[in-house]
Amino acid sequence: MKRQVVIGLEIHLQLKTKTKLFCGCSTDYIGATPNTNVCPVCLAIPGTLPVINDHAVDLAVKMGLGLHCEIQDNTRFHRKHYFYADLPKAYQITQYEHAIAQGGYLDVIADGKTKRIRLDHLHLEEDAGKLVHPTADGRLSGAAYSLVDYNRGGMPLSEIVSLPDMNSPAEAIAYIAQIRQLARYLGVSDGEMESGSLRVDVNVSLSNPDGSLGTRVELKNINSLKSIERALEYEIARQNRVLDEGGSLVQETRLWDDGAGVTRSMRSKEGARDYRYYVEMDLAPIDAKPEYVDKIRATLPEMPWDKRDRFIKQYGLSLEESQQITEQREMGDYYEAMVAAGAPAAKAANWTRMEIQRILREDSINITEFPIAAKELGALIAKVEKRDLSNTQAKDVLSAMYTDKLSLEAAMKKCGISGNKMTGDALRAVIEKVFAAQSEAVDTIRKGADKKGAKEKFLQGQVMRETRGSANPAEVSQMLSEMLKQ
Ligand code: ADP
Ligand code: MG
Ligand code: ZN
Repeated sequence: MKRQVVIGLEIHLQLKTKTKLFCGCSTDYIGATPNTNVCPVCLAIPGTLPVINDHAVDLAVKMGLGLHCEIQDNTRFHRKHYFYADLPKAYQITQYEHAIAQGGYLDVIADGKTKRIRLDHLHLEEDAGKLVHPTADGRLSGAAYSLVDYNRGGMPLSEIVSLPDMNSPAEAIAYIAQIRQLARYLGVSDGEMESGSLRVDVNVSLSNPDGSLGTRVELKNINSLKSIERALEYEIARQNRVLDEGGSLVQETRLWDDGAGVTRSMRSKEGARDYRYYVEMDLAPIDAKPEYVDKIRATLPEMPWDKRDRFIKQYGLSLEESQQITEQREMGDYYEAMVAAGAPAAKAANWTRMEIQRILREDSINITEFPIAAKELGALIAKVEKRDLSNTQAKDVLSAMYTDKLSLEAAMKKCGISGNKMTGDALRAVIEKVFAAQSEAVDTIRKGADKKGAKEKFLQGQVMRETRGSANPAEVSQMLSEMLKQ
């Protein structure tokens, strides 16, 4: 009997504010000297008071709206108590029963199918500091002592808790990627797993024979989408094996060891841990009246999935093309600006995926740093469509625009493609010149002896060479065959 895989995710998104959640410390802590990005509030010096960062609330509401949640008015913070060196107050300020955003859902595409993943809620909380384990090779265990760096303490997080609605690693990956894309579209978070601004706790279980939820395991310490996929595959196989052998699973937290490719038990989760939650009386309830929520709603851009679907309809792109072009909001904007400048939609899509994304990849830059104006590149692609220049020539022009930072006009000049095309009488004169030089070939053709058209092709090539590629090949071919008949 095949057991159903059940996955629920808790995603921590670091909110893109200038200052921390309850104090004025900068959020720019990465790379800072340990324990310099701190103040009495985030170090929990007795007598200090937290003050809510309104911008963090705005961003959490924005994300909640993007996730189709109900925004709650009058929500509170709670103190969640636990003892660990990275938590100087010995409690974390978080939202417990009264999360700011409730319910919601996200539609994701996995394995070619659209699936709706429901959310439990989104809440605001502060981050903890970081323990540093000074082992020679950076491993988590084996250090003789640990150091603590509070720079990250008090950073603003929104935690997005899904229902256990995902049934395969592919769905989980698609869901995370969709959250990350949304957060970036909304400007709510960088969503970078590498730097820790997006962190995922993965809960996974196998359903019981009667269809009810099985014992779940929580996986932590996974730092990339690829690793999440590997960790899930490993864990699903492990759970199946335990059950196949007649054993039973324990509810526990397991750490993913990326090097070894295995999960290891960290601690068993003894039911509900006693966090002794109680209301944080030092903070007033958060005001989120309907007028305020509407104001935030009005700042929402076009949602990524709407842009993706619109591009398919409006520009005739395939799902895959559209996904690739709209993955980043600014890339979609760039694409549309090229089309507006006269580039045909299909060609612009090709150029985006082949040329632009290749350059970005090669030079590890972002589309926001791409130095060529969309208008200029769009005009170049329009010229290819009009056959003013060939594809190969256009790529040379692009490279001159990019490498030498030239305008379209200057780049074309540099590549020897004049804006004034060889056409009409000027072209006729060139053809006559070629005829004079190649009279034998001309005679053969006029006698009807150029059976395979090889000689005519040869003449065409000679004309193109004489014009240095500045003539339209279609016009050359047409004029040439007319003149041969004369
Ligand atoms: P906790 O507070 O201990 O982290 P929650 O009940 O809040 O536990 O659930 C946390 C996450 O675990 C949620 O995303 C939820 O969807 C997921 N989850 C709960 N039960 C299961 C299960 N049986 N299998 C997989 N995921 C589960
Ligand atoms: Mg949890
Ligand atoms: Zn501080």
